[in-house]
Amino acid sequence: MIQHITPDSAMRAALAKSPEAHKYSHGHALVLAGGPGKGGAARLAARAALRVGAGLVTVLAPQSALAENAAQLTAVMLDPLPDAFSLRGILQDKRKNALLLGPGLGLARAQEMVPAALWGQRATVLDADALTAFADDPERLFNHLHPACVLTPHEGEFARLFPDLAEALRTGALPRPEAVRQAAARAGCTVLLKGADTLITAPDGAIAQNGASGDQAAPWLATAGSGDVLAGIICGLLARGFAPFDAACTGAWLHAEAARRFGPGLIAEDLPEELPAVFRALG
Ligand code: AMP
Ligand code: MG
Repeated sequence: MIQHITPDSAMRAALAKSPEAHKYSHGHALVLAGGPGKGGAARLAARAALRVGAGLVTVLAPQSALAENAAQLTAVMLDPLPDAFSLRGILQDKRKNALLLGPGLGLARAQEMVPAALWGQRATVLDADALTAFADDPERLFNHLHPACVLTPHEGEFARLFPDLAEALRTGALPRPEAVRQAAARAGCTVLLKGADTLITAPDGAIAQNGASGDQAAPWLATAGSGDVLAGIICGLLARGFAPFDAACTGAWLHAEAARRFGPGLIAEDLPEELPAVFRALG
């Protein structure tokens, strides 16, 4: 049965912060950024992770992009990340509990960093370049994945990782929910397939839908950077301790609801800024 995502009492309770909250009790999300001129996507994602309540968020950038990122970040922190060896060092700190790799990362940096990130066994969102970097040998990615991962492909990225399932979708041999279900089983983790109808599945067969066939359709989301914000939202929820499938479902709902409230003219930067209004309306 496909569950339609709605802001029920469980979601409201999970999103609320207790009066005893302090920043160290709400996780520390790490967002890996790419080289000079490519950091906008990671910064958007990092801001979204903070807006959904991650206690601390750090962008990890190559030395060559530190000045650019420093000029653009305030509440989000910044650290250098020269190579995969350094990432393993950073992941010795168990308080750094969630990761996002992909938006603006660059394919070469993604190939280097993804295995090191997954070695750390943290809750991890893989999107964009972190998926495309394994297009020539998806098994190499699947071998590293673990149940605390969330993959957030759009249709093109999905086709690169699961070409046979994408072909079955194209010919109508498999309905969309079944194709995504098989993808999650193969990957061994939560898979969120983006589109007007976003589908989320877990390896145990749980499946949920957010979008066009419900009341949250938000076509204004079809704009540059909006997927990067979604990945950041999910990473922020993972940092807060949401289970992977719940983080993906709640994240998809928050993202679409922010877009629906903002309306036409939306650009990706507007999404994190609209989240406080979404939370106020949730109560
Ligand atoms: P990306 O392609 O990575 O930038 O992600 C695009 C985001 O926009 C995803 O969250 C999609 O689900 C969403 N999106 C794209 N097109 C539509 C649409 N026509 N209606 C609703 N959401 C959309
Ligand atoms: Mg994208």
